[in-house]
Amino acid sequence: MDTLWTDFINSDWHDFRESGKHEDRLVLSSWQKQFLHDWQLKSSVPATNIELKALQTLRKLLHNYTLAIVKESSADLIDWNELNRIMAQSPVIRQWNKDDQENRHVTYIPLVQDWNSVMAEVVSDFVHTVLDQDIQRIRICDNPDCRWVFYDDTRSRTKRYCEDKTCGNLMKVRRFRAKKGSSRSQ
Ligand SMILES: [Zn+2]
Repeated sequence: MDTLWTDFINSDWHDFRESGKHEDRLVLSSWQKQFLHDWQLKSSVPATNIELKALQTLRKLLHNYTLAIVKESSADLIDWNELNRIMAQSPVIRQWNKDDQENRHVTYIPLVQDWNSVMAEVVSDFVHTVLDQDIQRIRICDNPDCRWVFYDDTRSRTKRYCEDKTCGNLMKVRRFRAKKGSSRSQ
């Protein structure tokens, strides 16, 4: 399952078929537009160079935390003060609203809708996953070329690849070829 914060990290895109081939999609206006649209966020596009730098720094930070969580199964490395600092850059207005089913509930609307408020939302989503969900379900795709970050929401908790049809199949073929190669050389 993709979430707001994993989608943000995955903007550092790696080609699952080829080692070392990657693209920073965060810098693309088309990616920025799609991301804001998908998660119902608002900001000006394209992001300025200063905003991009801040976004890339945050992405690196969250990626480091993700690596530590996946490797150590612990959230000890997280600098919570740093995350609070980023969330504090976007004060909110509380307002009740109706959802699609006409249910009223309180929502938090950023005072200013810009890339700072987007970063605060991304951090808040990450914090929500770490505090309220199961960090054991945070995964990095087992295909070393892919590195896609996702949250395993399957019942069996055994999802190893971002997609079985792409990375799962590719790794199956690689394992098969490696086995065949080693049996031939014996
Ligand atoms: Zn993958």
